[in-house]
Amino acid sequence: MQSFNPEQMMVKDRREFGEHGGVAPSISRSSTFTVMESGTMPEIFQGALSPEQGGCFLYSRHFNPTVDVLSRYLAAMEGTESAVCTASGMSAISCTLLQLCHSGDHIIASDTIYGGSHALFADLLPEMNIHATFVDITDAVAVEAAFTEKTRVVYTETFGNPTLKVADIPALAALAQRHRASLVVDNTFSPVMISPAKLGADVVVYSMTKFINGASDLIAGAVCASRDFVLKLMDLHTGRVMLLGPTVDPRVAFDIIQRLPHLPIRMREHGRRALVIAEQLDRMGAAVTYPGLASYPQHVLAKQLINAGYGFGGMLTLDCATRDLAERLMDILQNEENFGYIAVSLGYFDTLMSCSSTSTSSEISESEQVQMGLSPGLLRLSVGITGSLDERVDQIVRAVNKVGL
Ligand code: PLP
Repeated sequence: MQSFNPEQMMVKDRREFGEHGGVAPSISRSSTFTVMESGTMPEIFQGALSPEQGGCFLYSRHFNPTVDVLSRYLAAMEGTESAVCTASGMSAISCTLLQLCHSGDHIIASDTIYGGSHALFADLLPEMNIHATFVDITDAVAVEAAFTEKTRVVYTETFGNPTLKVADIPALAALAQRHRASLVVDNTFSPVMISPAKLGADVVVYSMTKFINGASDLIAGAVCASRDFVLKLMDLHTGRVMLLGPTVDPRVAFDIIQRLPHLPIRMREHGRRALVIAEQLDRMGAAVTYPGLASYPQHVLAKQLINAGYGFGGMLTLDCATRDLAERLMDILQNEENFGYIAVSLGYFDTLMSCSSTSTSSEISESEQVQMGLSPGLLRLSVGITGSLDERVDQIVRAVNKVGL
């Protein structure tokens, strides 16, 4: 297990105060800021006179005081020099890829990623002459073989959505470095639990819509990376975040700032409950996949990557073999047992369940789904942290027995 402690890093240097010493930061909603001396405008505009350099904020698509507080917390949590917040996870991913790749470039992508990211690589980026090869990211030989002279990026999710395949980040970082490519890791499933930048990733992207926010009431994303890369994203002439403009609202940033301090507690609790439920399903002989189970093929690797004490996360899958059975199980879990909600997304404080093949992986063709090991009856559960755990276990046991899995 890793010894990096993201929780300590978030509070190490400071808790940032609001105006008048408020224990909560202030929400600074101004889209533009007053330049007190007109002669300083050119330097402020060029970024040569930032607030830290005695200048002032300029315009909130560029930098905003409240959003910047969140960015600093995220960089501290991640152990990166810098971070930038975006309006969604997808904008964090697409701006990162468009910053790193140009026409003619090549990406090696894990074959097991969120359907929207898969569509970006398979359908949208080729329109810009950027092409991806999808590989089993756990197969080092296949990854090595996929490199070309034009490969600029290796892209993976820490725990692949939805099959929970674990990426060996240190090994991938070494491979990427050898080929002068950047390793980009989507760590949406495992914030604070795993710190990809500490394991060698060059860029860490998040959908903060999920666990980081934890309340399923907003959409946001983040890119955590070196200061140099974040400045590139914000460059006045070519910055993909600056010019494509997926700006996060300061009110949204404020909400996330207020929930970030209990993210570590939530992640431990998601993991504690998911493990108990997974162990119970395993004892019943159900086809459950959870990285915390000793029987999980990549259990040892997962353990090595995880920061000590955070558990194995809130995501688990249950293969019901057919879509029909998965849907029957979900209906019982939601409508008879009150176990959780049938909804896409994840990281909510209540349990969310969806059948991946027909929802968040439906952008991926049937044949590719088979290749990545995604069964049509795979039920993905984002295990919540509400209610009595004993009762939750009873509910899922009854539901599984009713369906006859
Ligand atoms: N990355 C992963 C792993 C996801 O599951 C999702 C959405 O489900 C995204 C990125 C996209 O995030 P957003 O909906 O915030 O754009």
